Amino acid sequence: MNAQQHMSPAERLRHMHDLLAKAYGPQHWWPGDTPFEVILGAFLTQNTSWKAAEKSLANLKAAGVVNFERLRTVSVADLQSLIRPSGFFTRKAPALKAFAHMLVAEFCGSLDTLASMGTRALRQKLLSLPGVGLETADAILLYALQHSVPVADEYLRRIVERHELLFPAPRRNRSGYESLVQLTQKAFAADPECRRIELYNEFHALTVAVGKAHCGRMPDCSGCPLAHDLSEYSGENSTPTGHRRQSRSVR
Ligand code: SF4
Repeated sequence: MNAQQHMSPAERLRHMHDLLAKAYGPQHWWPGDTPFEVILGAFLTQNTSWKAAEKSLANLKAAGVVNFERLRTVSVADLQSLIRPSGFFTRKAPALKAFAHMLVAEFCGSLDTLASMGTRALRQKLLSLPGVGLETADAILLYALQHSVPVADEYLRRIVERHELLFPAPRRNRSGYESLVQLTQKAFAADPECRRIELYNEFHALTVAVGKAHCGRMPDCSGCPLAHDLSEYSGENSTPTGHRRQSRSVR
C-alpha cells in the first residue's frame, strides 16, 4: 500500500488539484475583462458553451451595453435580441435586468458595496434573484466579487462520482451541489486563507479543463492526469450491500 492509499477523499481532491495544475498549468480564469463582463458571462454561459456566451458579450459591447446602468435601461426586447446567440434569451434577459436593478436600487450601482456584504448573506441575496442558481451565484461570488467560495459544476460532480469520493454519489440537485462545495472546502481547508480564492479559482478552471479533455459524458481515462488516482482507489468504496459501484461510464 503506498502513501496515496491513505488519503481521505478530501485529500485526494486536493491532490487532484496539484495533478491537474501540473498537467495543464495556470488557467487564467474567469474569461472576461471586467467584473461586469464576468457577471454577464456567468448568466450567459448557463446551459450553453462559453463560445456562444462570447458572441452575446460581443453584441452587448458593440451596442454600448457596457455597465450596469446601461443594462438596467436597455429594453428587454433589445437585450433579448443582443443575447440571442447564447440561447434561453427570454429567461436570461429579465434575469440580467433584475441583477442590474438590484445593484442600482440597493447598492447605488456599486459592485464594491455589494461585495462588502458577508459571504453568506451575499450568497442568499444572489440566490433570491431570478435566474440565479447555485453555480451562477458561486461563480459571481468567486470570480467577480472575490469571495472565498468554491464553484461546483457537472464536471466536478462526474469526477467525484467516478472516483467515488462521496457516498452516496452527489446528485444533480441542491444537496448534491452543496456536498461538492463542502468536499472542496474540506480539500483546501489546510491551505492559507489568503490563497483560498486563487486556489478555488484555479481548481474550478482545472476541473473544467479535464472534463472537456477527458471526463465528459463518456470518460476517456487513458492519458487523463487523474487516471492514477482512479486505478489506485478503483472500487475501494463499496455500497452498503457490498457491491462495488460500476458507475463510471454511465453518463
Ligand atoms: S476521465 Fe477517467 S481518470 Fe479522468 S477524471 Fe474522468 S473518470 Fe477520472
